[in-house]
Amino acid sequence: MAAPTDISPAAYIPLPQQDEEITTLRRALVAKLTYAVGKDPITASEHDWFMATALTVRDRIVDRWFPSTRAIYQEKRKRVYYLSLEFLIGRLLADSLNNLGITNQMRDALRELGVSLERLEAIEPDAALGNGGLGRLAACYMESMASLAVAAHGYGIRYDHGLFRQTINDGWQGEVPENWLASGNPWEFERPEVLVSIGFGGTVEAVEQADGQDTYAWHPAETVEAQAYDTPVVGWRGRHVNTLRLWSARAPDPLKLDAFNRGDHVAALASQAQAAMITQVLYPSDETPAGEELRLRQEYFFSSAALQDIIRRHMRQHDGEIRSLAEHVAIQLNDTHPAIAIPELMRLLVDVHQLPWDEAWDIAVATFSYTNHTLLPEALEHWPVALMERLLPRHMQIIYLINAKHLERLKASGRVSDEQMGEVSLIEESHGRQVRMGWLSFVGSHKVNGVSALHTDLMKTTVFSAFHKIYPDRIVNKTNGVTFRRWLMEANPGLTDLMVDVVGPKILHDAETLGEFAAFADDAGVHERFWAVRKERKAALAALTWEKLHIRLDPEAMFDVQIKRQHEYKRQLLNILQTIALYDQMRAQPHRNWTPQVKIFAGKAAASYHNAKLIIKLINDVARTVNADPTLHGLLKVVFLPNYNVSLAEQIIPASDLSEQISTAGMEASGTGNMKLALNGALTIGTLDGANVEIKEHVGDDNIFIFGLTAAEVQASRAEGLKTAEIVAGSPMLQQVLDQVRSGVFSPDQPDLYKPLVDGLMDHDHFLVLTDFDAYCARQADVRDRWRDKTGWMRSAILNTSHMGFFSSDRAIREYAEDIWNVPVTKR
Ligand SMILES: *Cc1c(COP(=O)(O)O)cnc(C)c1O
Repeated sequence: MAAPTDISPAAYIPLPQQDEEITTLRRALVAKLTYAVGKDPITASEHDWFMATALTVRDRIVDRWFPSTRAIYQEKRKRVYYLSLEFLIGRLLADSLNNLGITNQMRDALRELGVSLERLEAIEPDAALGNGGLGRLAACYMESMASLAVAAHGYGIRYDHGLFRQTINDGWQGEVPENWLASGNPWEFERPEVLVSIGFGGTVEAVEQADGQDTYAWHPAETVEAQAYDTPVVGWRGRHVNTLRLWSARAPDPLKLDAFNRGDHVAALASQAQAAMITQVLYPSDETPAGEELRLRQEYFFSSAALQDIIRRHMRQHDGEIRSLAEHVAIQLNDTHPAIAIPELMRLLVDVHQLPWDEAWDIAVATFSYTNHTLLPEALEHWPVALMERLLPRHMQIIYLINAKHLERLKASGRVSDEQMGEVSLIEESHGRQVRMGWLSFVGSHKVNGVSALHTDLMKTTVFSAFHKIYPDRIVNKTNGVTFRRWLMEANPGLTDLMVDVVGPKILHDAETLGEFAAFADDAGVHERFWAVRKERKAALAALTWEKLHIRLDPEAMFDVQIKRQHEYKRQLLNILQTIALYDQMRAQPHRNWTPQVKIFAGKAAASYHNAKLIIKLINDVARTVNADPTLHGLLKVVFLPNYNVSLAEQIIPASDLSEQISTAGMEASGTGNMKLALNGALTIGTLDGANVEIKEHVGDDNIFIFGLTAAEVQASRAEGLKTAEIVAGSPMLQQVLDQVRSGVFSPDQPDLYKPLVDGLMDHDHFLVLTDFDAYCARQADVRDRWRDKTGWMRSAILNTSHMGFFSSDRAIREYAEDIWNVPVTKR
């Protein structure tokens, strides 16, 4: 294949004159409100205005969508398909306006109509079709692919209910179904004509051909229809627009009229209810596989719909020539969730398009690539063979055949001993028979990538070590990135303006030029503005905290934040235990010159994850105790902000001074929250885990606080067996904190509530909270010392922002385009 050449930025419509544009927008808004929403401007509600505004913006996007699509079609450009079970999109109004470059004009047009753009932005529901980092990564990559004019489509599921809304009642997490579609979704286009049939169950029939060879026909027992909904994704300055196609399930014959006419109304509607179940809710698990049949149905449903759609488009565009698929199509599997796409493509190529097996396999491997997101063996997906045979009988046969050829090749290579064969087989035989989806993804892809340098190295030496020996060129690294359009420009316009003023508008177009801001790290005038911007954002977060929790925060205090999914490996427990230690020290010496500090937590726990929910309760109990203690004079505050999502992240991140990235080393594949926070000038306190390692290399050792065991030390220390009693005996501070938690100091009404938590730590401490405790406390003390030196702190903060250019998702997408997909991107 020829090496990709850079394509120049497509011509785009220049931004029109201000006044003219405002008038045009105002007219368009009134017309939309009237004719599309059906409301009179006099009586329209804020939500009506939101719909009118979104539809007006969508028209602008559509104007650029068709030329983008036509150009790809005419140039026969290779297309990238990003398959992901999750897209954690958040709100789209501010994003779309910003990328179109009409934020100010729209604000003015609305103001002339007596409407506030900021209020409209605030009432847009979050599209939370994802759990956390993995889903947000998919959303950032969709935005970057559009900005770089990569011809890309996202494929996923249009869940009726995304991630649950978190409530906190008496410190306990509650889950409320989230209903983002309740008042309509103005961004999407329903495509009732784009329907794909998805089969489940049934039998496989072998049909002998004239040449004596068998072909196979699958006769599914059950069929569900996948209906498409398209959301255009607009890139920077509207140069290019891609499509996010989400599938919704429905019965082919939703109303069984014969049953209805017999008077059996329940049966008449049952098939619709059963089909619709597939896309009803997002699995709220994170880092742990769900393992239920419905989850497998979801995975196959959207993978098959995507594959059929991809092949249909390819055949239409390339003269019905299926053999050229890999030249024109690259499919990225975001984790193993869409791994069933590999046998599905084999089924379509061999059974439907009648290609010989080996040729089909070469096409599949050249087409697919796979992103691994976790090394935890318990988090790698496995599907019971019995379930696969029942639900996807033809796919199970295909997997057996893939496995037989895979093992044959290994045997022939002589590089794998007979004992090792069981380990590299796609079928796990020891725990009931299971299909290993990670292994399937690996052998079915030409490239397999990790998401940070450390994670990729660990992939090679741990989970995939046997595979790495056999396929030494297959594993590559693609360190994650985040889109600066959302996470800097939209979330932090004050900081963006400051950098545009001192460095120039090029920082808006090219993240690498952020580096030039470093020249101002010692500039007193820049410091003053930098501090003023932070102060303003901290005051806004303080106002939000007051509104939501009735807790007063001092914007002058250090805002120390840990915002992410609640998971034991992320170690919110370590943070709250250190908070208790600090509380004890402050109470013991209330008149020392303490640094005013606010500990901010936010994050959801999976509904069934007992320990994570207990830790949320502990954080809230500590918060109640600390915040009410008069001896502290408000010098320490602890808050748990409920319902962490993309919009809340956008509010917290620009107000953060200290970023907590304290996972057990070797367990966080990359992290992206760490990038968003450092980009906005927060200093990181963290372990040498995931992308923290590379953040340290970019921002410099003096501008980050690293502590704790390394990944190698974690492995060694687990192998040795932890001596938790010894560790605790060696740390009087830790001893005291554990005694307080265990004896019910923070839970006087239920003194035994946290006993199991502490006993668990003493018993195994799998996440090495106790081991890293003292080092973490010492680093926190260093942080407090540094905070007293305002100038030094600001210098470090500016250097953090300046050196984060590498962590732009534009850089990540360029690397995927060049090394994995072999597709062109626009020049910088
Ligand atoms: C960025 C982001 C995440 C990922 O955060 P990590 O700290 O990397 O785990 C999760 N949820 C939301 C809403 C995010 O914006």
